[in-house]
This record gives sequence, structure tokens and C-alpha cells, in this order.
Amino acid sequence: MIIKISNLGEGQHQFSQTGKIEELGLSEPFFDGYDLEVKLDKAHHQIVLNSSINLKAHFECDRCSEEFDRSLNANYEMVYMFTEEPEVSGDEELNIVYLLPETDKIDISKDLYDFSILSIPMKKLCKEDCKGLCYKCGTNLNEKQCSCNNEEVDPRWQPLLDLKNKLNN
Ligand SMILES: [Zn+2]
Ligand SMILES: [Zn+2]
Repeated sequence: MIIKISNLGEGQHQFSQTGKIEELGLSEPFFDGYDLEVKLDKAHHQIVLNSSINLKAHFECDRCSEEFDRSLNANYEMVYMFTEEPEVSGDEELNIVYLLPETDKIDISKDLYDFSILSIPMKKLCKEDCKGLCYKCGTNLNEKQCSCNNEEVDPRWQPLLDLKNKLNN
């Protein structure tokens, strides 16, 4: 997506756009459309850009393997600095882009793509407290309790269970 900046006056600008995720180069787990809102704050030597993009993604739960859809939001801020001598290297400032003063447009496609990918959660759970599958019989414990003897628990979970018991009492 390309934003023409040469004809933007100083001050705040805002626009929104909707489209298909394919237009951003995205595919699975994303699906359907996106919804983008961009705010620009232009000053003499810089533009501060804030993008907020809403997406839909389809996942498989890490615990119970049920498939589910989730809305995701990717939000980022980028500062474009106009300078005669763009600093190619040096400071590792992530969200600063140096532009020559005569630059007339900026392309935010790659940022939209990167930040969309970053919005995918590390842990994909159908719900926060998904009970998962019984490790013995495979029953989905969100749906029903199985009759397995789940007394012997993984020792790593014991402190958590103790805490839970304490909270319940
Ligand atoms: Zn689940
Ligand atoms: Zn079971």
C-alpha cells in the first residue's frame, strides 16, 4: 500500500481502507478481509504514522485441537524522518525510517505484512481456560469429564494445582 505524502499538509490526517488479505500478501492462518486505519501526523521534518489493522485468523487449539476463528489486531507506529543524509546503519532504532526530503510517497506494505504476522499469538488456545484432551483416553475435557483416574498429575503442575486448591477453599 502506497501513501502519497508530497501533497499532505502539516497536521493530522486519517484514512481507512478495507480489502482482501491477499492484497497484503497474507494467507493462512488469515482469511477473509482486513480493515485498516491509518493516522498520519506530519510535521516539517517528520511524519509519525500509526496503523491499526484488524484481521481474522483460523487456528487449531494447541490443547484440544478444536478449530476456531479469532479476530486479531496489529498496531504499530513508524516515524519517517526527512534528512539529507539518511543514516543507513548505526543506531538500531527499529521504528524509524529515514527519507530524503524530496520523497513523495511511502510504501507501508511490508510493515503491514510484518506486523500482521507478528500479531499471531504464540499460544493458540480456543479459550483461555481450555481444559484440553485427557492424556489417557483423548476425551475433550471441555465437553465432558472422562472416567480416567487423573489423580497422578505431572509433577510440574503440582504447584499450580496446590494454588488452585488454596484459591478454591
Ligand atoms: Zn481448546
Ligand atoms: Zn480420560
